[in-house]
Amino acid sequence: KTDGRGTFCFFEPEMDARLQRRRRLELDLRAALAAEAIEVHYQPLLNLRTGAISGFEALVRWPHAEGDVSPGEFIPIAEESGLIYALGTYVLRRACRDASQWPSDVKVAVNLSALQFRHGDLVATVQSALAAAGISPQRLDLEITEALVLDRSERVLNTLRTLRGMGIGISMDDFGTGYSSLSYLRSFPFDKIKIDRSFVTNLNENTDSQAIVRAILSLGNSLGIAITAEGVETELDLACLQAEGCLEAQGFLFAKAQPASAVAAMLLGEGEAPPRAGSAA
Ligand code: C2E
Ligand code: MG
Ligand code: MG
Ligand code: MG
Repeated sequence: KTDGRGTFCFFEPEMDARLQRRRRLELDLRAALAAEAIEVHYQPLLNLRTGAISGFEALVRWPHAEGDVSPGEFIPIAEESGLIYALGTYVLRRACRDASQWPSDVKVAVNLSALQFRHGDLVATVQSALAAAGISPQRLDLEITEALVLDRSERVLNTLRTLRGMGIGISMDDFGTGYSSLSYLRSFPFDKIKIDRSFVTNLNENTDSQAIVRAILSLGNSLGIAITAEGVETELDLACLQAEGCLEAQGFLFAKAQPASAVAAMLLGEGEAPPRAGSAA
């Protein structure tokens, strides 16, 4: 056998296993959605000045027979198979319904896939979810990524403008990981920028990250956009952020995402409640 064929034989079973897992996960996901076996968990966002919980980010969870599958794996499968529309609507409706049980000053943030802007009627889906839950649009933030606004299609921008006009907050998620063309900040007035955790975790040890975080905070100040830091894992990260004047943060230091049933306890400062960040550092 030639080297080439040997290499080919080496890769083939691996590729095949990956494809098979993908196909199986797609079938399982379809079934899980139909059975409403998909869950939504909530991770708190903390106001660093007061230490109060300002809101929760809804994060989809899929408890699977062979161990949980992470959103990082199944969201792309949902996108490629078209299941993202049903999944996205399910998460949105569930998140709004759960938030209707919370104090009215506590917001809920929902992640959207770019595809949800390209097909279907996102505005109607959002309106219907809010109405069914009986919560005001001001309680809802929608998180989108840089990739979506970069294509700058009129359809996307108009949808964003309509949602924002309803009073819904629009957040730029994972800021700094995309193509980092800042010009899109001019084409659309975001309410919030979430600094990606790759700049935040171990912030205290990395002076380059500190410079980047400082620059993003300054950008937010000048443009009137709120800044949230994701991925705060240690007291040292938190102290750094507070020293830089960051006003909102999210991360394992405070809490991981937890089921809706744990939200009341988190709000009361019980259970796995976040430390009072306002008094930390
Ligand atoms: P994201 O929107 O940036 O969400 C934050 C992710 O960071 C979550 O991962 C969260 O568990 C994790 N995280 C939060 N704090 C920390 C920390 O201190 N340290 C570390 N290492 N990680 C932290 P998760 O839940 O696995 O979600 C991954 C991504 O999947 C999300 O990133 C989002 O892009 C996507 N996703 C999750 N739920 C949904 C959904 O309902 N719809 C869509 N379209 N995407 C979703
Ligand atoms: Mg997010
Ligand atoms: Mg994020
Ligand atoms: Mg992220």
